[in-house]
Amino acid sequence: MSKFGQYNINLKEIADDKVQIFKYNLDDDFFAKIDSVEVKKGNVRANVHVQKRLSTYELTFKLDGFIKLPCDRCLDDMDQHIKYEETIHAKFGSEFAEENDTVIVPEAEGSINIAWFLYEFIILNIPIKHVHAPGECNKSMIDKLRRHMIRHKDDTEDEALFEDEGSDDHDFENDSIIEEDTQTDPRWESLKHINFENN
Ligand SMILES: [Zn+2]
Repeated sequence: MSKFGQYNINLKEIADDKVQIFKYNLDDDFFAKIDSVEVKKGNVRANVHVQKRLSTYELTFKLDGFIKLPCDRCLDDMDQHIKYEETIHAKFGSEFAEENDTVIVPEAEGSINIAWFLYEFIILNIPIKHVHAPGECNKSMIDKLRRHMIRHKDDTEDEALFEDEGSDDHDFENDSIIEEDTQTDPRWESLKHINFENN
């Protein structure tokens, strides 16, 4: 059995008009095997309901669980809840292809491997901003960040760090880039002047 053999669903074995349920537990091992950059740890239950309707197979994915991600605010690991339901369709054709929500499965092969779908549905559900629940961030890190921001930004209010959707981090990064640029330019400018004057 290949690395993802257990995620192979043999569509030819699906009986007519009968829902067949495949159950998976997507744990650390799954994320390691799929070589995930985003997710290293987690535990997501996945039930895949497969039903044949005429020549089309309907696969409904139901995911529920959590993955560990670094918190955007304090960088400590946090549990990100994943709850998602999605239906895709599959039918047989000559070669593998994806057309909108329909996957064409080579008839000779007869099976669809759903490992990547499971992974994709998890990744798609990671919110752009993922942070600990209020009060659960690493306090010493938050204190450091707050001091850092106050030094660099006169109008930073304490609450901004906790409520603003991360725009402060970005502002600060941009500020420092601009600072570096403007610090570099005048130096080169003055060097040029010295050279010109000496010549
Ligand atoms: Zn946090």
